[in-house]
Amino acid sequence: MGSFKLLFVGLISLFLIACEGGEPAQSQKESVSGPEVTGRELAMQPIKLYIFDCGRLRFASIAGFNLKQTDTDVRELSTPCYVIDHPEGQLLWDAGLPSGLAKQEGWQVQEDGFASILTESLTSQLARLNLGFDLGSLEYVAFSHIHWDHVGAANDVASGTWLVQQGDYDAAHAEGSLGVPAVQSELLARIKNRPTQVLNGDHDVFGDGRVRVIAAEGHTPGHQVLYVDLAETGPVILSGDLYHFRYSRRNRVVPLFNVDAEQTLLSMDKVEELVSASGADFWLQHDAALFDSQKKAPAYYQ
Ligand SMILES: [Zn+2]
Repeated sequence: MGSFKLLFVGLISLFLIACEGGEPAQSQKESVSGPEVTGRELAMQPIKLYIFDCGRLRFASIAGFNLKQTDTDVRELSTPCYVIDHPEGQLLWDAGLPSGLAKQEGWQVQEDGFASILTESLTSQLARLNLGFDLGSLEYVAFSHIHWDHVGAANDVASGTWLVQQGDYDAAHAEGSLGVPAVQSELLARIKNRPTQVLNGDHDVFGDGRVRVIAAEGHTPGHQVLYVDLAETGPVILSGDLYHFRYSRRNRVVPLFNVDAEQTLLSMDKVEELVSASGADFWLQHDAALFDSQKKAPAYYQ
């Protein structure tokens, strides 16, 4: 890398550090506060949670997940995107497989048997469904972590503040991703230039306790899960990659490629305690059977 590029990266970093911890721009906050809507009424308005099909993965071997071939017969994983539509704005949670994959027909199979498929990009789905928001009208963007299969539409995001834990922020900005595997830095190129709020722990996204980022490091240095308190459905927790398989959750199995196995176990304990205390429904994002059973946009949970 040339010295000019280094200087440029340095300047961008300084700019983002200046943005850290700051409130999002005023213009992004004012859209909901009409004169006749009081704070109390706003708080009563329901949250809607939309689920989108953002691709599918298929594994020939599950050894990397620290599983024997006989532990589970599941080989296909879903990679959903979610939009949490709160009265004060929309949060995009995870962005699935790389958008460019949608241009390729059918399953893309590698030599080692690993395969991936994305039928329609998130941008195209949002345009087709006309839900009243798109990737240019978001208030916030958060990924459970920066692995390639969770940030695939990140370059299409043209709005909102990126909510990212310090560990993943550092890896995203470092040369070589600080040894974090499964990071494709080109997928993060544009999100790194968006207004950014770096988190060091749990974070109440809209300030009313109903949408909370829960730090759960270990899979990556800044892995997180999302707690959403829905009025009718009840509280749900979006798992990120705390687990990839139901078997892994039942048996507390840590994938071989996690950056910190010890920390992963602590995060599992922390999230499972929250599940118990809140009575939340735990949505294992990569669980294709669960995904197939759930409502997809334009339907929603509320
Ligand atoms: Zn994943």
